[in-house]
Amino acid sequence: MALVVQKYGGTSMGSIERIRNVAKRVAKTYDAGNDMVVVVSAMSGETNKLVALANEVCEFPDNREYDVLVASGEQVSIALLAMCLKSMGYKAKSYHGWQVPIITDSVFSKARIEEIPDAKVRADLKDGTIVVVAGFQGIDKDGNVTTLGRGGSDTSAVAMAAAMKADVCEIYTDVDGVYTTDPNICEDARKIDKISYDEMLELASLGAKVLQIRSVEFAKKYNVDIHVRSSFNDNQGTMVTKEDKDMEAVLVSGIAYDKNEAKIAVLGVPDKPGIAAKILSSLSDANISVDMIVQNVSGGDLTDFTFTVTKADFKKALAITKEIATEIKATGVSADESISKVSIVGVGMRSHAGVATKMFQTLANEGINIQMISTSEIKVSVVIDAKYTELAVRVLHEAFGLSGK
Ligand code: ASP
Ligand code: MG
Repeated sequence: MALVVQKYGGTSMGSIERIRNVAKRVAKTYDAGNDMVVVVSAMSGETNKLVALANEVCEFPDNREYDVLVASGEQVSIALLAMCLKSMGYKAKSYHGWQVPIITDSVFSKARIEEIPDAKVRADLKDGTIVVVAGFQGIDKDGNVTTLGRGGSDTSAVAMAAAMKADVCEIYTDVDGVYTTDPNICEDARKIDKISYDEMLELASLGAKVLQIRSVEFAKKYNVDIHVRSSFNDNQGTMVTKEDKDMEAVLVSGIAYDKNEAKIAVLGVPDKPGIAAKILSSLSDANISVDMIVQNVSGGDLTDFTFTVTKADFKKALAITKEIATEIKATGVSADESISKVSIVGVGMRSHAGVATKMFQTLANEGINIQMISTSEIKVSVVIDAKYTELAVRVLHEAFGLSGK
């Protein structure tokens, strides 16, 4: 008998009919003799609606109340799934994050899971109950409801699997697994059978929307194998697991893109020590993380300092940056929301030269201008004009031999 954690995303939970389908899958695994913890997301579109309501109330909704609001979507789906299972004759019980409890820090809307005492859930499992846990939400030490960031149910599932030492963590979604790139924009995209945590981290952080980044960080830290698969068929999905030799044989494993960032540039910054730190610390004090950074001095004593943030943080980041710019006597601030980041990822890159060159040349052949570049051991990312995203992804997919054909 195994302990199985399954997570179903918003699309899988998107209607009563789909929830019935989820219940049937859960029941099947349970009937095969497994203990089951099921983590679910809000029904698709619900969290977006809640976020929109908050933004209608005021420009910067209160952080604590924002979490109370957006956590409510998952409350609906746990109840519906548990009801459905009970109506089929199974013992099932829904749990809010706080009822488990999933204890987090107090950073509202981006909380991190600190600890999951599992006594209550274990007692229910022992009794043959299917435990249905609300993803995305937790509780801080002061008893406030917190949420884990958009897509956070993945992290809830992996964290439950780690805490309970589950045998399997299956993440059910609306695609068959992790693809070499987004099949919606590149019809040659192929499903990847096995991918390392590090590659997945890059692909996730680079905008491949299958798994939330933090869920992969968690999985890597606690060595949880994740099986990403579809809730609409029985196909084998993608295993996200420890790196091995097969993975190194492939130069580039995937192409990711992210249209969810915006660029801010502080122009004519005095070129002296401490300025970059000043700009970045003001942003991090506001809990805004900066992704790419470029600073360039081209003679004289002024420099431009350019960085990207998520579109969600953009308004706040721009306001803060403008204040600092005045303070440090920069000549101006410019911003651009129509950018995208395109990246190539692969552990095989570590041992091969010329990968970046090939990427830049491929883009140049299409007349695509590169605005920013950043690299790590296993990826190269560029910022380009958003309107070339699809083209860039397709030509890179082809150039690095990822096409299925
Ligand atoms: N419902 C939340 C969201 O839409 C969490 C999740 O789906 O994982 O972001
Ligand atoms: Mg998701």
